[in-house]
Amino acid sequence: MSLIVVGSMAFDAIETPFGKNNRTIGGAATYISWSASNFTRPIKQISVVGGDFPKEELKMLEARGVIMEGVQVKKDEKSFFWSGKYHMDMNTRDTIETQLNVLADFQPELPESYQNSEYLMLGNLLPAVQLSVIKQLRTRPKLTVLDTMNFWMESALPDLEEVLQHVDVLMVNDSEARQLSGQYSLVKAARIILKMGPKYLIIKKGEHGALLFHEEQVFVAPALPLEDVFDPTGAGDTFAGGFIGHIARTNDISFENMKSGIIVGSAMASFCVEKFGTDRLKEIGHSDIERRLQQFKELVNFDIALV
Ligand code: AMP
Repeated sequence: MSLIVVGSMAFDAIETPFGKNNRTIGGAATYISWSASNFTRPIKQISVVGGDFPKEELKMLEARGVIMEGVQVKKDEKSFFWSGKYHMDMNTRDTIETQLNVLADFQPELPESYQNSEYLMLGNLLPAVQLSVIKQLRTRPKLTVLDTMNFWMESALPDLEEVLQHVDVLMVNDSEARQLSGQYSLVKAARIILKMGPKYLIIKKGEHGALLFHEEQVFVAPALPLEDVFDPTGAGDTFAGGFIGHIARTNDISFENMKSGIIVGSAMASFCVEKFGTDRLKEIGHSDIERRLQQFKELVNFDIALV
């Protein structure tokens, strides 16, 4: 099944307690496509980069079945740049700097060959751009998933509220769910957010796993307890790529299958954090993923005798 992935492609500068990298390749759409391409192809990418973005990075993704027709290259401009710093608790991070550069006036143009795609993954970037892609599609995808972040809640809330009315699944982390709903309790937050448009809500909780809400149903998935977390950057996007990649591969949008999608997303995110940037995602193959999914099964498998 064909999948459209929209999102930033970026240079990141990352500092963690274990190291520093001043210029690594990142961006939401980069992580999503590295992750999703393990499960489904073709992936039709929509993004924008400057003349400074390495061509080899685009070629590596193309070799994985990612189509770049919808990626604009603005030769004389600079790519989006983000820098962040993690402290000992790697569940929280500070954004040091966000330079929108090419993203600031990005007008996405949906290529004709992207029409009729069944799945749409709107990764993190301007809500107005996410909305523009939705509006350019002549047929509504089978499932539209949206990821966003606090930056857009602070700088473009009205646009975000509008795009929420057109999506099926919203993915945010726990602090963003609290910010968007104004509620501390995640259960209350979910109730409010599910009235804003999406029918499903996924709340990511870093090393504490993820929650899926739909009507009165809730599903909880753990994160794999890892001995070393090196760099959490992109874990959320990699999770999103695993989730939508699984849904597109199986072509099943039931709540039951979304539960499996969340496990696949969690497994993919557990690889992402093991090295800087996309390094680990570039190394892994099907057998690594199979093994990790098996570990997840064992992690949550228990039997209980009721008296
Ligand atoms: P994650 O750790 O999954 O939340 O995603 C980190 C990635 O998001 C980094 O590679 C950044 O380049 C990208 N990013 C950070 N801030 C923004 C933003 N405001 N819009 C789009 N992408 C962003």
